This record gives sequence, C-alpha cells and structure tokens, in this order.
Amino acid sequence: MLFKRAVATCICPRIPSRLSRLRHTKPPSQYAVQRSCSSHATTKPPPIPPADHRQLGVQQELFTTSVYSPGSPILLPNGARIFNRLVEFLRRQYARYGFDEVITPTIYKKALWKKSGHLENYSDDMFTVTSTSPSRSDAAKDSEEDEYGLKPMNCPGHCLIFASHLRSYRDLPIRYADFSPLHRNEISGALSGLTRVRRFHQDDGHIFCRPSQIEEEIRKTLDFVRVVYSTFKLGPYRLTLSTRPADHYIGAPEEWETAEGALKRALDVSGQDWTINEGDGAFYGPKIDIVLRDSDGKEHQTATIQLDFQLPKRFDLGYVAPAPEYERRGETTTDPDALNETGLVTPVLIHRAVLGSVERLMALLIEHYNGAWPFWLNPRQSRMFLWAGKARRTRR
Ligand SMILES: [Zn+2]
Repeated sequence: MLFKRAVATCICPRIPSRLSRLRHTKPPSQYAVQRSCSSHATTKPPPIPPADHRQLGVQQELFTTSVYSPGSPILLPNGARIFNRLVEFLRRQYARYGFDEVITPTIYKKALWKKSGHLENYSDDMFTVTSTSPSRSDAAKDSEEDEYGLKPMNCPGHCLIFASHLRSYRDLPIRYADFSPLHRNEISGALSGLTRVRRFHQDDGHIFCRPSQIEEEIRKTLDFVRVVYSTFKLGPYRLTLSTRPADHYIGAPEEWETAEGALKRALDVSGQDWTINEGDGAFYGPKIDIVLRDSDGKEHQTATIQLDFQLPKRFDLGYVAPAPEYERRGETTTDPDALNETGLVTPVLIHRAVLGSVERLMALLIEHYNGAWPFWLNPRQSRMFLWAGKARRTRR
C-alpha cells in the first residue's frame, strides 16, 4: 500500500520526493514522465544529461570535500560502505590469486625516496613532511634526516619487505597487496570530485618473480582484471602494450625483448584484442594498460600492469638460485656443472593495479550505474517501513 502511494508521488526532477531519493532511482523513463503530475507533465521529456558523479555523490550522501584539505575526499557513511565493499571484494579475490596483504608506513625518510629514484624523478608531485619541532630533545641535528615524504606509491615499501630476509627461487613469486592511502600533489586547478585528487587509495599490488615466471603472472593478472570488470559489468575495455622507448630507457635491449615477448604471449592467450603503443613504455620497463570506455563513450585508463627491471636493482634485491646465468635469462638447464653453481639473481618486479584508484573507480561506478547500485554495493540495502495509523516510524 505504501509503495503505491510512493510511486504516485511527483517524480519530476525539480520536486524530488524523499522516497525517490532513498531508493536511488534512475532518471525517470519516458513512461514515468508522462504519468507525473499535471503541472509538470509533458509529452517531450527533456534530454537527460550524462550522469555526473559529483552531483550524484551529493544527492546520495556519498562524499563531501573541505577547503581545509583540498583534493582529499571525505567519504560519508554511504560512501564508506561502498568503498569497504569494493575492498572486501578485492580481498576475496586476493585469496584466489595468491596475494598477501601488507600494511606499510605513510611517511618515509628522504633517504628512501633518494634510493627509489622518486626524489630525482617525482619530487614535484610529492608532499614533504618535517618531523619535529626544534625544541624536541630527539630532533635530528642533520636537517635532511629530519625530512620525510608522504608516499605517492607503495613500491619502495614492498621492496623493503622483500629485502627483509634472504629469499630462495622456491619462494617466488611473492605477491604483496596494499590498500594504504597515497598522496600526490596535484595542482589545485586540476582537482575534481573523486577523479583528480591528492589523497586516494589504490588496490596496489607488487609481484616479485623469476624472469621465467613473467608470462604466467601477466596471464593471471589479465584474468583477474577480466573477472573484476565483468563483475561490475564495466566495459568494453581495450588492452594496449607499450614497448621500449627509442632512447630514454634503462636495462639491456635483450631484457626488454624477453619481457615484451612474454607480455605479447600473455596477451595472445587472454583471447582479447590488443594493440601496440610503440615506444610508449615507462623508462624502467614495458607495460600493459587497460583502457575502459564508459557509457558516454569516454575512455579512462584504469588498470595497469608494469614490468620493472630497475627498482629491484636500486634496492639490491636478490634471490638465491642454481645456474644463475640461465636463471637471469629466464632459461632452464639440465647441465650438472651449471646446476652445481648457485648465486644471487635480481627478481623482476611487476606493479599492478586492477581497480587503479578506488576513489576514481567509485566515480566511474556512480556514473555507470547512474546511482542505481546493484544490491551488493548498495549502501542502503534494506529499509523497513512500519505503518500504524497516524504514527509512522522508519527503521533501518
Ligand atoms: Zn608500484
């Protein structure tokens, strides 16, 4: 009975009913518009503008922002529920794809960023933190010792974990996942909703593997992407392989050829169409980007899979393996002399993110579903209306 009354209320956009707001309804259909109240009825419904996550975010009380922290979205209870469900969903997949979650610091000393190369190549996008007041008795005398950077990425922290004890070839692949908040100093004019922010969370993952394991790890990651995006009914998406830049790159050309060959074979096995971006790889290794097309035809780069030969070297990472010369080339041998020799081999690092920024993916999902969330993501999954004469109470 109550539903009938509710459906009969005005559904014109300029007179939002409380129930339509609570139900997160899609924009009214043509049929619904024709049935609305006489003062707003029209046979030609106005064109529906594309969904905007910033407007829907306010309407559905998902997030807000503050002048006191520009670019750092404040997730309200409804937004936090969606965020947590996305993270829980990813955690369930981690059990299936062999990732172990870790929790790493938000700030590191400048010395770490020097070692990782961020100070040299990324400092414009980083925030600096000064640790103590001069009055503190434990304040470092050397001012550089006292300077920290807010982390823009998790990779250096994961390298520290790998380096924390001796590894054997039998331990690999090692896969770490991390949902820590990240900070990047985007210019203030570029900040927007949940898509261009200064503070965000990635479903960040790093795989430390043997050169011979690259292809299998990429294949599994592409499968991971397929499972996640089909669950959200997002897509279509396209895959692009970016190869060795013409001049500014590190590592031997043979290493690049081996890595690119492994990526190509994994892409072929995925059965999905892919294209090459010749010379567009990162200076430290080739990469696969997943470019998603939204319902308005706009393209968004979301997931990414990047090979990195450089960072493990900068952190002196190694694992013990027999026949190290063969191992480095990703080859195997049955030669007993070669197998009698053991040595340290540098692992290959694969950076991968399936959702990318969780906040950014939330923005895409808000617009993709136009606010009509599937049940498992809906922040208000049930609502009970009790009707007792004049007294009416609403309970969650
Ligand atoms: Zn990384």
